[in-house]
Amino acid sequence: MFLIENDTINNHINKNENYSDNNEITLDNNEILDNNVTIFDNDIHFSLKPMNCPGHCLLYKHMNVSYKDLPIRLADFGVLHRNEFSGALTGLTRVRRFQQDDAHIFCTLEQVETEIENYLHFLETVYNHFNFKFEVELSTRPDKYIGNLDNWNKAEQILESKIKKISKWKINKGDGAFYGPKIDVKIKDSLKRKHQCGTIQLDFNLPERFQLKYSNDNEGLDTPVLIHRAIFGSIERFMAILLEHTNGRLPFWLSPSQISIIPISNIYLDYANQIKEKFNNYDVVVDNSKETLNKKIRNSQKQCFNYIFVVGEKEMETNTINIRIGKNILGTKTLEETLLICQNDYQKNKLF
Ligand SMILES: [Zn+2]
Repeated sequence: MFLIENDTINNHINKNENYSDNNEITLDNNEILDNNVTIFDNDIHFSLKPMNCPGHCLLYKHMNVSYKDLPIRLADFGVLHRNEFSGALTGLTRVRRFQQDDAHIFCTLEQVETEIENYLHFLETVYNHFNFKFEVELSTRPDKYIGNLDNWNKAEQILESKIKKISKWKINKGDGAFYGPKIDVKIKDSLKRKHQCGTIQLDFNLPERFQLKYSNDNEGLDTPVLIHRAIFGSIERFMAILLEHTNGRLPFWLSPSQISIIPISNIYLDYANQIKEKFNNYDVVVDNSKETLNKKIRNSQKQCFNYIFVVGEKEMETNTINIRIGKNILGTKTLEETLLICQNDYQKNKLF
């Protein structure tokens, strides 16, 4: 089951006061705001958006929510800005402007369990498509915390029981933020290096600070729990890890360089173009350069094409294709067999 989220587009420029108060969100990002691109207008300070949490809280505040409406899930797969020091910028892993699959779930404490379960299922589904193994780490209540101790204990119990269903888990005692426990998701690349991507953070503070309420079934008002969640985290960072993990050869369904057709010589160019027509569902190029056969194959390997089709006289006469996958020769296949190989590969891990 997938979560139904309401896709939103938050303001790209926000008043600094939405971020600045005595809470961790500000503490974590004071530096960002201090150094961020700030715009002044009659003494009001604005910044480029470094996060979506305050925007989603303001949106919720305008909703007049009843307990029957919960959980409310607001998502924003948009641009965020962090004015990192120039020395800290690294390839795609640390950039100043990035996309994040950011979502905020407003729910009751009783609904947290299902939301965490849904999140982990969602996460597992997405990561499986990329063949990533992952492990989860739960950070629990630090000495200084805000909120009700019973709520903390209950939330931690729920999170603990859920992460223990994942094959690899760990608890970092006392390492949580003061406003709620948190699960960090770490993925392992092909070199077994760990990278933090997904995250789920419970927050008892922000709803209080923004005075968010919902009407309960006793005609009173209660404060919702806020869950911050991301599956990919920064999409740029995720792509960098995926490129490292796959050595640049992206899965067939995702690859921008799916098939390269190489005629042994340009005499077979017509046959190569006929094959291209048959595979027009995919990204296909025909190498019509005047390079030697070996050079053409090497070029296609360097460009990380998923499949390299080599065609010459024998293939043209028998209506076949000689297939290579990277440096491996798969052999000669008929057009129908090759189409089936591509179809199966495309469907195997397709995400959408
Ligand atoms: Zn957030």
